Amino acid sequence: MRRKIVAGNWKMNGSKGLSEKLVGYVQAEAGSLDNGVEVVIIPPAIYIRDVLDQADGAISVGVQNVGQWQSGAYTGEISSEMAKDSGCKYVLVGHSERRQIFGETDELVAEKVALIVASGLAAIVCVGETLEERESGLAESVVASQVRLGLSAVSGEWKSIVVAYEPVWAIGTGKTATAEDAQAMHASIRSVLKGMGAPAEEISLLYGGSVKADNAAALFSEPDIDGGLIGGASLVAEEFISICRYFPASS
Ligand code: PEP
Repeated sequence: MRRKIVAGNWKMNGSKGLSEKLVGYVQAEAGSLDNGVEVVIIPPAIYIRDVLDQADGAISVGVQNVGQWQSGAYTGEISSEMAKDSGCKYVLVGHSERRQIFGETDELVAEKVALIVASGLAAIVCVGETLEERESGLAESVVASQVRLGLSAVSGEWKSIVVAYEPVWAIGTGKTATAEDAQAMHASIRSVLKGMGAPAEEISLLYGGSVKADNAAALFSEPDIDGGLIGGASLVAEEFISICRYFPASS
């Protein structure tokens, strides 16, 4: 059975105060969710301890990035082992902001994924096409290539892999893929995973890109959408928990 996951990526937002206030509220509400959703918060690394202190076991915690090395003279970087040691369960990797602003390539994503799974953490691997690629009819092939290359180092550790489909044009723009288009891409990703020899039916696929309380229900009721990666809306406690509630209890 694949997991249903709603993960909030705070990006470079938040504060100690927000960690205390928002996480306190979310963890109290998460405890009463009856739809089996795993609620994940991915704060800036410096607030991981604050979030964990508030989370009280009802919420999982992730880190937004790790370096591609195990340890050493890499000022400013943190490793997968450190993330694990600090109590994280998930690592976000290949987010389009990392790809576009920090020049991360599929090859680098693959190196990081290998270290993440080796350290016993789960990788949430982000893929997605730009608007230009979608308008040129290249969306599926671009995403398929990101999946194949980014996961090329995975052999038996598929249980540690979650894929997040995040069309770049939908991130932080207020534009969301229609539930039908998102479903079509998720089905395509699942078939790429199958072609790689992965247990595709067991791998959770999340949708990300301007998910809000008013569009979550339609997205989450699609058969291949197993949850969401939420940016802006994860900074508003009520909105975030409302998104977690929209998962159908029966699925
Ligand atoms: C994200 O950053 O992964 C994201 C999906 O952002 P937003 O929800 O704000 O579009």
